[in-house]
Amino acid sequence: MEELAKTSTKRSRNSAGSRAADAGAASVAVRTKEEIESLTDDEYEALSEEEFLAAQRVLLESERQVYTSQAEMFKEEAATLARESEPGDVQFDEESGEGGNSTIERERDLALLASHLATVAEIDSALEKIEAGTYGVCENCKAEIPRIRMRALPYARLCVKCKSGGLTRR
Ligand SMILES: [Zn+2]
Repeated sequence: MEELAKTSTKRSRNSAGSRAADAGAASVAVRTKEEIESLTDDEYEALSEEEFLAAQRVLLESERQVYTSQAEMFKEEAATLARESEPGDVQFDEESGEGGNSTIERERDLALLASHLATVAEIDSALEKIEAGTYGVCENCKAEIPRIRMRALPYARLCVKCKSGGLTRR
């Protein structure tokens, strides 16, 4: 699915794309995360649609790396704790209750693992929307989500109005 990117010119553009013509689309410079983060909000608003999407992709892929490596860490911790709490390994456990603590820690790790994997899935969904030309459009009311919000939460699914309207999804 990642390989669809190069065919995007023939695909119909979403409403967000219409304000920026295709001029210069071929010369979008790939910026580093640091360069993107150094832009002011005004500068972000002034980016062409292609530059904006390229920048958001960098932010998403960077966050994806962070969440993936943290998920991996929680997974390993949980596996280690599971080994430590195996009955055969317990020696000084009766009074200290360490076996119980490691069970709690393991459950915490597994909960964090699950929430990190859920965020990775959100990020993947956002990356797919960039390819599909539907990125930055509210899934509920179909309005264009302001760039400031997409910059702050690159995998946002909803505009602020719909988000605060009692829905729990981001
Ligand atoms: Zn909305």
